[in-house]
Amino acid sequence: MAFLQISEPGESPEPHTRRLAVGIDLGTTNSLVATIRNAVPECLPDSEGRTMLPSAVQYAEEGQIVVGHEALAHRGSDALNTITSVKRFMGRAIADLRSDAEARYNFTTPTGDGKGPLQIITRQGTLSPIEVSAEILRTLKTRAEESLGGELYGAVITVPAYFDDAQRQATKDAAKLAGLNVLRLLNEPTAAAVAYGLDQHAEGTFLIYDLGGGTFDVSILRLSRGVFEVLSTAGDTHLGGDDFDAALAKHAFETWALTRALSPTGQASLLAAARIAKEQLTKDETATINVGWGCGFGSTLDVTRETFAAITQPLVDRTMACVKRALRDAKLKADDIDGVVLVGGATRTPHVRTALEAHFGKPPLATMNPDEVVALGAAIQADQLAGNQSGDGESHLLLDVIPLSLGLETMGGLVEKIIPRNSTIPVAKAQEFTTFKDGQTAMALHVVQGERELVTDCRSLARFELRGIPPMVAGSARIRVTFQVDADGLLSVSATETTSNVRAEVNVKPSYGLGDGEIAAMLQSAFASANTDMQARALAEARVDALALTTALSNALVDDRALLGDAEFAALNSQIAHLKTLIEGSDHRAIVRASEALNVASTEFAGRRMDRAVREALTGRDIAKIV
Ligand code: ADP
Ligand code: MG
Repeated sequence: MAFLQISEPGESPEPHTRRLAVGIDLGTTNSLVATIRNAVPECLPDSEGRTMLPSAVQYAEEGQIVVGHEALAHRGSDALNTITSVKRFMGRAIADLRSDAEARYNFTTPTGDGKGPLQIITRQGTLSPIEVSAEILRTLKTRAEESLGGELYGAVITVPAYFDDAQRQATKDAAKLAGLNVLRLLNEPTAAAVAYGLDQHAEGTFLIYDLGGGTFDVSILRLSRGVFEVLSTAGDTHLGGDDFDAALAKHAFETWALTRALSPTGQASLLAAARIAKEQLTKDETATINVGWGCGFGSTLDVTRETFAAITQPLVDRTMACVKRALRDAKLKADDIDGVVLVGGATRTPHVRTALEAHFGKPPLATMNPDEVVALGAAIQADQLAGNQSGDGESHLLLDVIPLSLGLETMGGLVEKIIPRNSTIPVAKAQEFTTFKDGQTAMALHVVQGERELVTDCRSLARFELRGIPPMVAGSARIRVTFQVDADGLLSVSATETTSNVRAEVNVKPSYGLGDGEIAAMLQSAFASANTDMQARALAEARVDALALTTALSNALVDDRALLGDAEFAALNSQIAHLKTLIEGSDHRAIVRASEALNVASTEFAGRRMDRAVREALTGRDIAKIV
């Protein structure tokens, strides 16, 4: 796959003035802000020296909004008003929620009927995930401006590679709400690669394994002389350290054989205790889960590293399945990978590293802090986009890929892929379509995302119409449809009828995005059903062709009835009726055979029509003017 170079956007900066630009890792669990100081990327600490800001927002009693460590401390006591992992809700609907852990708030929707983007009911009112994320971003913006002593020019904000259109849009909206100028959204693994590539000048093929609190991403990147090429991406938007906490909490709950279900507060306390024990097990062989239920009651459980590993091995196995898929997509074997880069706090877990070492035959790279590497890479990109880097050759940007193919619905419910999966972005592709019916003046365009051949198996992104096409014979209009995906991964589609220049356009902004693991599931089903899909495509195509034939012939039989004897007329009509019955069925070979037979049977009739048309055209004309 080729890489592109993007030049710096906007005007070039005044000489010697540096624009204050930051990279922000807006994480599910923790968020960080980084910048370039004295040519070195570094994370900016809060007043107490901590670089990580827990992505937690408490809507407290007296109307204040508390962000970070302090908010996290209230997660147990004020569970319903202390929002954590809000990133999981970005661009989502209530129906997208899966686990119990996710359903721990009071949700609603703008219209109250459960449809559309979800909202969270707190004591300070109903809030969208965008507003909650904006609080985190605002806190980091303030931290950066205080620390750098000036107003920020802009920020690069990272998102998981698997974020779809709605989730990216929601992230941008949150930044806007926080008063940040978004220079670009950047995929997290990509940012990590930037940080590693520039720090180490590594060459080779690397696999970025990012296991955070709530998301898991794998990307395979080829690095050479500071230029990066993305070979493939895979992952699971609902797999992370939180699941390890939940598995350990479940184990404790079952071991204690508690008879009553836990209150939200009790659940939050248990999860927090499980998390502390889990992190302890990274450095110690044993740890104790210690939960106070209030009123002097509490429970404790000793856990060994071995038990913890056994309980959570299925989660590690799921990450390894994604790793294998990414390798398969990139057409690589484990041996082809020169290094595995660890990103995300959960990659500190010992048996995660063991699994990677077993698969790749060498220990993963972990020379950089896995918590900070994404923010550092984003800071490097931000600095470039702000135009702070002198000299040329340094300003190339690593480009991301789109995770799912983008296409259009065509006749028969089929998908015509316009931009294939894993295309580097920004990308623009155009394709020509035509009208199906005579005199057709409007065309409905349906934009879909997914790998399957049939529209019903793909995700619908948007519908729009091209109107005002001049009436023409079927097949002669030229409708050029252009798909454009910008550097943030956002799609816009336009359609133009090129003979008349009639144009229609849509920015694809779905109301909410793909559900959890849906992308993975969609990819998997695309692989599994390639064969069924081919048959379905053959059937749909046969139907479309047969329908066009029967329609055209029926019309001709009406127009030129006089050219046929009664027996001929009846024979053709009965063959048309037969083919129409077959179209209703699902035997594509029978449809093709009957279509061919009808074609043959109607050849004579077509010949007579042609003769008549030619005779009419020639009547009363001078032969010299015709040739
Ligand atoms: P995110 O990208 O989702 O914000 P992070 O990269 O900050 O997440 O990772 C957070 C996850 O890392 C949490 O689940 C946390 O418990 C886990 N984590 C942090 N430190 C350790 C550790 N020492 N051992 C195991 N897991 C850890
Ligand atoms: Mg992260």
